[in-house]
Order: sequence, then C-alpha cells, then structure tokens
Amino acid sequence: MKIIEYISKTSTYIDELKKNGQTIGFVPTLGGLHPGHQLLMQKAREENDITLISIFLNPMQFRKKQFLAYPSDFEQDKRVAKETQVDMIFHPTVKGMFPFVEQIDDFFKCQEDELIDRDRAHFVIETKDKNGIDNLIRVPTNLVYRLDGTMHPWVFDGAATIVYKLFKLLQPHNAYFGEKDIQQLAILTNMAASYFPDIKVMGVPTLRDADQLAFSSRNVLLSAEQRQSALSVYHALQHGEKLIRSGESDTHIVLNAMKEIIKAHPLVQIDYIDIVEKRSLQSSKQIKGDIVLYAAFFVKGIRLTDTLIIDL
Ligand code: AMP
Repeated sequence: MKIIEYISKTSTYIDELKKNGQTIGFVPTLGGLHPGHQLLMQKAREENDITLISIFLNPMQFRKKQFLAYPSDFEQDKRVAKETQVDMIFHPTVKGMFPFVEQIDDFFKCQEDELIDRDRAHFVIETKDKNGIDNLIRVPTNLVYRLDGTMHPWVFDGAATIVYKLFKLLQPHNAYFGEKDIQQLAILTNMAASYFPDIKVMGVPTLRDADQLAFSSRNVLLSAEQRQSALSVYHALQHGEKLIRSGESDTHIVLNAMKEIIKAHPLVQIDYIDIVEKRSLQSSKQIKGDIVLYAAFFVKGIRLTDTLIIDL
C-alpha cells in the first residue's frame, strides 16, 4: 500500500494508472476509519482496478473545538486501510491542500459568513476569499439550506471545496460516499455533475454495528451508557418508519412521536430532526414518495447523526 503526502507526488502515480488503463475508485474520509468506511472501500475495490482513499481532517468542515477533538489516529487508519486492501492513501497536510491559508484559525473565521450571498442554483468558485482561501466552493442556496445545513452552511462549502480539489488531483472514475450523510451526498453528486461529468458519484447504505448504532468515527468517544442513549435516536427513526408504513402521512404527528421517544433519554439533545422528500431534501406537511428521516443530536456534547431512507 502506497502512502502519498505531497500533492506534487500524486500526478506521476495517477498518470501511470491512467496510462495502464486502470480504473480508479476513490473514498474521501476525515480519518478515524471504521467499518462504515471499510464498506465504501470494499465497494470501490469490487468496482474498480485501484482503490484510493484520502485521509484529511478538513478544518473547513469543523468548528475549532470539534476539529481539535476529532478522534483520528493515522497509524490505526493505516492498519485498517491495509487490511481492506487499499492501494493508496493520500494523506496531505493542511498547508498542502490550502497553500494560501497562513494559520489554521483563518478557517474558523470563515464560519462567521453564515449569511453570505449565494447563487440560488449554481456552485460558485471563489479563487480567493477575503480570508485568503484558494478555490472556495460556495454551495448553492437550493442545496445548502436544507436539513441542518441551515444552521451551518459552511460545512458543505468545506466538503465541496475539499472534494473538488481531491477530484482534480486524483481524477477517479468512481467516488463513494455514505447515504448516512445524505445532504453531503446530494451536494457532491451535483458538484460532480457541474465540474466533473466523467466522475460517477456512488451512494452507499449506512452500515450499523451489532447493536444497530450507525458506525461513526465519534462513537469511540461514547461511554456504554451514552451509546445506549444514542441508540434511542435510531429507535425513534425506526418507530417513525413503522408509523409511515402503516399509513400515517402527517409529518407533524410522526415527528412528535419520534421526539417523544428521544425525550425519554435525558443524555440526548436533539439538534435537528426532520422528515424530508428524498430527492429535494425538503420537508412538507404530508409524507409521500421516497423520504428520509434524519436526526442530528448531541450526547454529552458529542455530535452524531443518523439517517433512515424509506422508499415507499
Ligand atoms: P467521514 O470520514 O465521516 O467524512 O466519512 C467518510 C465517508 O464515509 C462519507 O461519505 C460518509 O458518509 C461515509 N460513512 C460514514 N459513516 C458511515 C457508515 N456508518 N456507513 C456507511 N458509510 C459511512
């Protein structure tokens, strides 16, 4: 397994693969690899000649406190990637990906721009924003102000920016993302359609642990009791699904029933919970068509999300 840290080293490697006519499957990650990530890597392996992953804790996607507390261990990640037969890990530095940013705090200043002007329907590339960030991608209003994106639209500008840069460097044929982060998947699918029409963005269903908690890098931070509480959110989503499948179509009624289940667990605070239409990610009073039940929540300050997709 090859490990590349410098951007300048990627082109020789990628050119060689392309010359040999090998197809490239790519899985971008923030590190803290777990079986959910491994599922994406396995898919990439099945469907491509070569599997590349990136491990890059992107400061643009976090508030400072969460960035510093993110559980990642590169030595452990290397073991997991090797075990999954990954061919190459791209592990760049922050300076490598964002050469014009002088200090890490500059990223966190960008997050004050929550109400920045956006194009309604198009991605906009800012070559350099006022904080000196090169190639900042602004996600359009109609994709970013959905679900909890309303509370932190800059998270998606950060994800779109880094994936744009990674796609340019690594030129994959197929890229794999989890349906667990349903809004990110929708945004990156659209971003690729705008700028990388040859790259296929593939959504992969959420993988859950034996107790049904969705795998997440942050799960290692949970105590047994906190983990049990976190599971109440999945139970609430499942209950919502049951109500919907048995004919309940009033969004308000289903949402309230889900909230009641979570409320019984004082360690859990709901940050955001909603039922939205799968394609547009918009909520409506009546549930119909394919839908997504989505929750973002805190368990003792640890932020987790869960997603249940229902194809009716
Ligand atoms: P992250 O490192 O958290 O950005 O995750 C990297 C990719 O793995 C993203 O596309 C996630 O949606 C995906 N992912 C995270 N958790 C899971 C999971 N439990 N099952 C499937 N995919 C996941």
